[in-house]
Amino acid sequence: MHKDLQEILISREDLAAGVKKLGEQITRDYAGRTVTLVGVLKGCTLFLADLARHIDLDTRLDFMMVSSYHGEHSTGVVRILLDLKESVEGSDVIIVEDIVDSGLTMQYMLQNMKTRLPRSVEVCTLLDKPSRRKAQVPIKYSAFSIPDKFVVGYGLDYNGIYRNLPYIGVLKESAIQGKN
Ligand code: 5GP
Repeated sequence: MHKDLQEILISREDLAAGVKKLGEQITRDYAGRTVTLVGVLKGCTLFLADLARHIDLDTRLDFMMVSSYHGEHSTGVVRILLDLKESVEGSDVIIVEDIVDSGLTMQYMLQNMKTRLPRSVEVCTLLDKPSRRKAQVPIKYSAFSIPDKFVVGYGLDYNGIYRNLPYIGVLKESAIQGKN
């Protein structure tokens, strides 16, 4: 385990099993169709790469990068830093995100995606932190529901690092304070 972590919340093996299950579910639900996975950078990267390998359908990949500003009293201001490369009009879109926390980022992503007139749009998240929700967003696919803890690894960062850890872990307080 990385020295900055206090515990491993989801092991490498549990991640692999959870992601495989989601891929198989998507394969069944979209049988005979082509899906467009829209990954939300950068947190989605490891999850999306593994998920895509468990989807046995014709699959397109595209990406968006957004920055969210959620102050205590903010309703969630989201800015697009990188937009889709291809049109998704008429496509079956699945937005792939690392974690849905307040839900404000995903609420924006869904509203934004719908203006592009896809045939359908659903949400697929690796982690769900339901206790922190401010905006109710419909999550069709979720691998793990987690408690209100700040987690890193498997794509999730703190100050840009820890994304490459092959498991999801909880940072030590000292690692958070020491780096601020
Ligand atoms: P939301 O808009 O749902 O509040 O936040 C979504 C974004 O907040 C995620 O894409 C992620 O970047 C960040 N986030 C929320 N909770 C965590 C967490 O526990 N760890 C990390 N590393 N990022 C988080």
